Amino acid sequence: MLEKQQEETVMRLAGKVAIISGAASGMGAATARRFGREGASVVVADMLEADGKAVADSIVKAGGKAMFMLLDVTDEAGWKKVVDATVAAYGKLDILVNNAGISGSATNDMLNTELWHRVMAVNSTGVFLGTAAAVPYMQKNGGGSIVNLSSISGVVGQTMVHMSYNASKGAVRTLTKSTAVQFGKDNIRCNSVHPGLMPPMRTSGATADPVVREKMLKSVPMGRNGEVDEVANAILFLASDEASYVTGTELFVDGGYLAM
Ligand code: NAD
Repeated sequence: MLEKQQEETVMRLAGKVAIISGAASGMGAATARRFGREGASVVVADMLEADGKAVADSIVKAGGKAMFMLLDVTDEAGWKKVVDATVAAYGKLDILVNNAGISGSATNDMLNTELWHRVMAVNSTGVFLGTAAAVPYMQKNGGGSIVNLSSISGVVGQTMVHMSYNASKGAVRTLTKSTAVQFGKDNIRCNSVHPGLMPPMRTSGATADPVVREKMLKSVPMGRNGEVDEVANAILFLASDEASYVTGTELFVDGGYLAM
């Protein structure tokens, strides 16, 4: 029986076209590789050219379809270029994963206004700009799925991270619901994923310190940090047709952090 089920297993994103921002690293890269294995054509969009190209190449080497595109998510014209090029190359756009982000723990100065503006621009405005660029194509296409990377930091306040990080991820949480409500009639779904304690971001400062991380682990009921593939699994579900009636919701991938 099990064997028969396995034989019948189809790729979960067969024929889908996806753009993933921030896919040169961490959870974005893991999601891009997973999407590639599940049959999607993947656009790896990031500011990091060499790393982004390497991710796209690895997908192609494994038998998938992928291309890299340079993108700064704060650049409205850049988003339009990426979406236009995606549709030109693959014919449509089904999935957008707004994953690119920067940390709010780059400095211990919690009242630093420069960091506030930068974090809000990348983490919040970047998600809006991606959504604005993708929605018209998804409307033409008869629907789509947008998955936004928020965080446990988008739900509760924390020490150690700059206030802008909490605020920017909180904005992503409600922007997700707004997108779901505004475009539900177009069959566009939008959901947020909220990772907990994960391997540190490239831009992490204090929260990358092993001593600090050990302390943070005490707030995680499962007592360990999450792996990037565990977040990719959650993104995959929401992006796929398996979640066809799931929209405006939040999926916590946090080992129980927010349940305490
Ligand atoms: P990461 O630092 O490994 O990867 C982030 C990627 O985003 C990098 O490739 C980076 O180049 C890209 N990026 C940054 N600014 C960009 C910009 N302006 N334009 C385009 N690309 C840009 O981080 P990660 O841990 O994989 O995090 C991915 C997402 O998950 C982020 O939104 C982050 O806030 C969120 N998150 C991370 C954690 C964590 O602990 N690592 C926890 C919860 C949520």
